[in-house]
Amino acid sequence: MNTIRLKWRGRTEESVVVCRKNVLRALGDMPRLFENGALVFTDTNVLSLYGAELKKYLPALPVHAMQAGEEHKNGETLFALLQAMAGAGLRRNSTLIALGGGVVGDVGGLAAGLYMRGIACIQVPTTLLAQVDSSVGGKTAIDFCGVKNLVGTFHQPVRVYADPAFLRTLPPREIRCGLGEIVKHGALCPELFSLLLKNADRLTDLGFLSAIVPKNIAFKASVVRQDPLETGLRKSLNLGHTTAHAVELADGTLSHGECVLVGMLLEASIAKRCLPCDLGYLGELGMLCRRALGKVPALSLTEETARLALLDKKNRKEGAVQLTVSRSLGAYELLELPWERYAQLLKEAGEELC
Ligand code: NAD
Repeated sequence: MNTIRLKWRGRTEESVVVCRKNVLRALGDMPRLFENGALVFTDTNVLSLYGAELKKYLPALPVHAMQAGEEHKNGETLFALLQAMAGAGLRRNSTLIALGGGVVGDVGGLAAGLYMRGIACIQVPTTLLAQVDSSVGGKTAIDFCGVKNLVGTFHQPVRVYADPAFLRTLPPREIRCGLGEIVKHGALCPELFSLLLKNADRLTDLGFLSAIVPKNIAFKASVVRQDPLETGLRKSLNLGHTTAHAVELADGTLSHGECVLVGMLLEASIAKRCLPCDLGYLGELGMLCRRALGKVPALSLTEETARLALLDKKNRKEGAVQLTVSRSLGAYELLELPWERYAQLLKEAGEELC
């Protein structure tokens, strides 16, 4: 069990993160958690896979499902959920259970943060990405005006229940997506990195993943505990993400996790061109990204892709792009580049990728 106790905004909040088996049955055995009313928020795919279990273990709880997919992580979905919450008569002391991947978690967390100025949210992450990353740490958001995660807030879940058994139904591509954030954690945490190197031939093996999920959660929790509002250390978790978000917007077919892997490869190549780097480490990081991707997707990295990086909310100066790069194992730094230089380096990095 990982407890993230945060002192922020003048109050103390506690978020308990637990890895456990048979999560839905366990929730059914905790009726006191829901005695003030609760609603389960999920998506259509997860509902079709786990709807019967929900009915069996949590029969009294209303369920609201969004259309699955990043393209539905928007205001319309958010307001439909808020309407369902009001319709179910949720009160200030009620609970929203977000059962699904990172999209459900982000939209559900935001709705819980907004409804009556904030009600309790329990995250039950069902994708690898959501288990090792998005469900922990309280970042919530929807995409807005063509920008990823433009509208959001910090709202810590009271509990996170991660059950690796959900990974059994996850398509291989979604496993690869989760590996993006796992490799990113590895770049920042030497213990995880050496585990990944040792198991590079079986990164998608469910036995290996079940063992590595709790270690990733512990790592993410330790970062969030030190910097809940991303004023310092938590920025390290943006490794590869500026370019990942630009590629995600430009491409439209790659998932977030795949873009994180591609973003790390491209930004490692950019870092190499700007700063002295540990090339042996960057080689190993590149190998892990490529193994996790299976096959590096064909990308057209145009000037327009580079321009999309300007929309990133991490940028601090007009006309400049901010990257989080790692040039040696366990270390990170922020690299700010004028846009023209970034665009040129991205082009060169893209040529190296092929
Ligand atoms: P997702 O939520 O879209 O899930 C991927 C697909 O898997 C969906 O089709 C979903 O229906 C399906 N699915 C979910 N659980 C399943 C299961 N157990 N079996 C079979 N299918 C299942 O995508 P994701 O990769 O989980 O999350 C990506 C999102 O997370 C992005 O929007 C990204 O911005 C966000 N994110 C947020 C944070 C954060 O800190 N809040 C961090 C990283 C990523």
